[in-house]
Amino acid sequence: MGSPPTKTKQFRLHIEEGDRSWLKDARFTSREVFVRSIELKQRGLSRTDIQRHIKPDDYLANNKCAVVGKALATWGSYQKLRSQWLSLDNPEDYPEPGAPSTDRKGAFPLVMAHGEGYRLTVRDDGRVGFSISAKPYKKVSGFLRGRHSDIGLLKDALTETDGEYGFGQAEVLYREGVYYLHVPIQYNADIPDKSDAETVIGVDINERNVALTALNRETLATKGTLVFDYGPVKGERARLHDISRRCQERDQHSIYRRIGDKEERYVNWVLYRISAAVLAFAETFDAPTIVFEDMSGIRDGMDYGTFMNRRLHRLPFRALQDQIEHKAAWNEIPTFEVDAYYNSQTCSCCGERGTRRKGRFTCRNDECSLQQDHADRNASVNVAWRGVRRISSDDEPADNYRTRKTQPSVRLVSLCGSGRDVNRPTSSAQLAARGVLN
Ligand SMILES: [Zn+2]
Repeated sequence: MGSPPTKTKQFRLHIEEGDRSWLKDARFTSREVFVRSIELKQRGLSRTDIQRHIKPDDYLANNKCAVVGKALATWGSYQKLRSQWLSLDNPEDYPEPGAPSTDRKGAFPLVMAHGEGYRLTVRDDGRVGFSISAKPYKKVSGFLRGRHSDIGLLKDALTETDGEYGFGQAEVLYREGVYYLHVPIQYNADIPDKSDAETVIGVDINERNVALTALNRETLATKGTLVFDYGPVKGERARLHDISRRCQERDQHSIYRRIGDKEERYVNWVLYRISAAVLAFAETFDAPTIVFEDMSGIRDGMDYGTFMNRRLHRLPFRALQDQIEHKAAWNEIPTFEVDAYYNSQTCSCCGERGTRRKGRFTCRNDECSLQQDHADRNASVNVAWRGVRRISSDDEPADNYRTRKTQPSVRLVSLCGSGRDVNRPTSSAQLAARGVLN
């Protein structure tokens, strides 16, 4: 992971000094800077040249650098997404990633580096004070309001002196009459070594669900097993995508944009919910480590067709692994990857190859007592098992199979509803607890 794990928290600005209109002006200038950056990038200019070309009036040079940086990062992730999308064998089933818009009018977040464009301090009255350089020599200041726990985290980050915390680029946003500050709080977590783990949690991510299995590292006994099913989510996403495509065809751009945003929000909500529940599941156990499949390479002898299918189906879910890894790092849980070598076709009990059909895994070995299992859970057991092998001493025989003869019955959690219109959803801890065996 390149950058330290970060939590971005939202605060309301309670402005005491300076003029709100300065923030507004700065947000509109941010849009110009953003659009100009994308245009110059499309014409092939380098970062340095783009920075040199853009000289907005009445705007902090440092903030300009931050907005250009954000524009180029947006462009970069668009390019990456697009190449992933193009490499799918069924790209039409997924929305085509949209290029960063250059015809949009209005405001854009004011992006600022900590210590340059914005400063935060713990004031004598116990509040967290802010000072934002909206324009050269024009500061807007006051204090932040927000959730109690978020303010608490911010104060910890501002008062600790060991360099554990840092601050990323903050953004000023405006919604329905209120100014907000989004502050990325970085935490240089002290992550334990995976070889000290006592519980190894295998994660299998596929187009239907996320399957988790927690193994006791010493005994290989199953401590918990859980499958998050997002079948209904896929349907909802497809529905939103379908609507947005029809709107696009009819050139109803504003509706398209709104539904596109809705789809994005919805997907983000799902990623957030699942990654939070995976973390809650991991934290139930002693000294956990989380293991994923490494889908980046192909090993000799692996069936190319099967591997590519599995890898491609997983691509849209790469974001989910990123988010779980990120949250794990913040919570000081080590993560790593193991080979994806036949994880989905191997029996988690005896190690023989088996067959998977309609979500069931069937072992071909007559003497194996597993016979059948939930296919994705079976794969997650194999991932966990490989994880245990990796962190255990090297002198163990390579195929010292295996886990318990029979796996406990699978616990299935269905994720449905949407970010907005659902009745208070079950907490992540409650979701996770359903998979913990006693
Ligand atoms: Zn078997």
